[in-house]
Amino acid sequence: MEKNIIIFTDIGDTIIDEGTEERDRTGVVQRAQCIPGARETTLKLHDAGYPIVMVADGLTKSFHNLMDLHGLSPVFAAWVISEEVGEDKPSAKMFETAMQAMHLTDADKKRIIMVGNNVKRDMRGANRFGIRSVLLDWSKRRPFDAELPEDRPDYVIHNPSELFDLVERLNAELEAEKA
Ligand SMILES: [Mg+2]
Repeated sequence: MEKNIIIFTDIGDTIIDEGTEERDRTGVVQRAQCIPGARETTLKLHDAGYPIVMVADGLTKSFHNLMDLHGLSPVFAAWVISEEVGEDKPSAKMFETAMQAMHLTDADKKRIIMVGNNVKRDMRGANRFGIRSVLLDWSKRRPFDAELPEDRPDYVIHNPSELFDLVERLNAELEAEKA
């Protein structure tokens, strides 16, 4: 059965531990570790049939290096990267590009969750765009204080592994609404 929930996800400090990044002279990330549990959870969500879309700020080459390194490249139904879009989150253009890549319409917005660690980029961008926001507060690199009301996440998880149960619950809720 087709899944109701579509996952948009950030990468840095959401799947990859930014504290372990090694960059070359041009700023491209060559390698970095995954946050514990993030790789397994991403694969598990993919295996369960949830569409996963990368919505990330940074350099295209960095994300290819990292996803290839961890065997996660095939997981993504689309890659939306700020270097190519020309704007960073919270720009709506990032989310619009992701919607277009997946052939989604406004009616699908209730199906989409944006998972990220940055309240001013991921939460603000998602909330303004009209999709639900999930904050992973695993990394303490950035503050989580809401500067604006739209910086507040709809859901908070502390470890990547918590995402699977949350997605399953939200998917079941939408399924019940259909019935
Ligand atoms: Mg991030």
